[in-house]
Parts: sequence; C-alpha cells; structure tokens
Amino acid sequence: MYFLSDEERRYVLRKLLPESRRGDVHSELRGWSWRDPPLSPVYDVPLGVSEIAGRYCGTARDVYLRRVVGVKAPPNVAMVEGRLLHRAVAGQLLRAIQTVYTHPVGSVLQALEGLRTPCLDDEDVATLPEQVRCQIRGKVEALAEFEYHRIVTRVADVLARQPRVGQGGLAALALPVMVELPLDGRFLGLSSHLSADAVSLFEPMVVDLKFGPRRDFHRLATAGYALVLESLHECPINLGCVTYVCVEGGRVSMERDFHLIDDEVRQWFVEARDETMRLVSEDIDPGTSSECHEGCPYLDHCRR
Ligand code: SF4
Repeated sequence: MYFLSDEERRYVLRKLLPESRRGDVHSELRGWSWRDPPLSPVYDVPLGVSEIAGRYCGTARDVYLRRVVGVKAPPNVAMVEGRLLHRAVAGQLLRAIQTVYTHPVGSVLQALEGLRTPCLDDEDVATLPEQVRCQIRGKVEALAEFEYHRIVTRVADVLARQPRVGQGGLAALALPVMVELPLDGRFLGLSSHLSADAVSLFEPMVVDLKFGPRRDFHRLATAGYALVLESLHECPINLGCVTYVCVEGGRVSMERDFHLIDDEVRQWFVEARDETMRLVSEDIDPGTSSECHEGCPYLDHCRR
C-alpha cells in the first residue's frame, strides 16, 4: 500500500518533483511560517487534522455536535471497517520492520513468512454482526497476503543488490516508510497528538490510505500533515498521495491520487481550520448540510 511501483516512482521523481520545484509555494504558506498570518491560529481550539479535513458533512455540523454539544455517536460499519483495515495494514508493516531488525539478515526472508498471518484481534470485531465480521476478516487476509509479497520482494531485492547490508540498512532501503507517525500540531493551533498515516522517506511525501470512495477533500489531510511536518522540521514537503484501496472477492486493487501540496490546497486547509475552529470556539451551530450522506452517524440527531 505504501510502496510505489517502479512506474509510479518514475512519475513522482520525473514529473511531480520537478513540477513542485518550479511552482514554488508562497513562503507564508509554508508550515514554518506558523507565527504569522495566515498560518498563526486565531482560535485556541486544538482540533485533529481529520476533524478539519474530513469534510463528509458539508457544514461541519458533525464537529459542532461532537465538540460543542457533546454528542457521542457510535461509528458506522464503514468507519469501523476502515479503521480495522488501516490498523491491519499499518500493523503488518510495523511487524515487517521489527522482523528485519530482530532477525539475522540471512534468515530474514523466512522470518517474514509470519506476516502472512493477519493481525486482527477477535476483540476488534466482537461487537459486529457475524456476516460483517466474516467480510472484514476476509479483507484483512487478502490485504495481508497482498502486502506480504510486496514486502518480501523489496527485502529480497535489497539483499540481492547489497550483499553486505546489515539490519538497519536493510530496513531503511527496503521499507523506507514511517507509519502512524505521531506529530505535534500545536504551532498551527492543532492537537499535539496527531498521527499521520505514513510518510515516505526517499521521495518526501505524506501518504494517506482510504478504503472508501474518492473525495476531493481527502487532499486536505495530506496538506494538513505536510504543514505540521514543515512547522516541526522546517523542511519543505511538497507531495501528497492518497491511496484508495479496494478489496473485492479476495482481490486487492489500488488507485493513487498523487498531488502537489501547492498554495491552493494549503490555503484551503487553513480556511477549513479557521472555519471549523470558529464553530467550536464561538458555539455556532452551522445548521444541517443540504446533502447528508446515509452513513452519517449523526443522522438521527440532525433529523430529529
Ligand atoms: S446528518 Fe447531515 S448535517 Fe448532520 S452531521 Fe451528518 S451530514 Fe452533517
């Protein structure tokens, strides 16, 4: 999920990266300019990036209900499934990195076989109906098998090209991704306990996985994390990639939305941040959206 194919890598390196260098981002929209407007936070409401970027509700009334009114709506099945699939994919990659670090290089390929066993605790799915439970288990197994082959291929490739490689070098070259990276977003007025899905190291890029349909606002999340990374490390992050993963009939397919984290999406994120924080800070009910989606966990509350 996190690793690019040779073609994708070529596209990023030969097209997107040169483009990002040509169309330079305005300095006031770089995360390190957090002390000055427009990045300096106007409200003292530390929200998560997902609360700002998850524009599934057109008026952000979901954030208002949760943060101001204190409504606790249980997540719908799609949300639970997305969370579990996410956790399974990230957990498998973390296990792969651990395996590389804790096994002698000579036996690492054998040790990686353990990745074929998916990580999904029964507790995680215990509350779901049996049919949904089976479906999720099937998807997690398909994802584990799919990723296992990609991980092993990458490790075997590095072992073949670098016969003297050690454990640290092997992990860095074969699995150059940080998953579930904790980030402190306080310079931008955000929560100090953010977690980015993944950051790819060799082509610095924020990666976000989605298990549902494509939406234009998904790019807001990659922009938000890029701004936070820039505010913390003062290094430019110009690229984002939202990977849409679909598992059907045991088959895994992926579609990638590579994009530049340009002025437009940065501005969009900052405006969404300010607007959402204002609702919470000033107790403003934004009213219901004209297009409530059927899966919204607040549907009963808003219709009532
Ligand atoms: S039911 Fe509609 S208005 Fe209410 S939170 Fe959901 S999408 Fe927004």
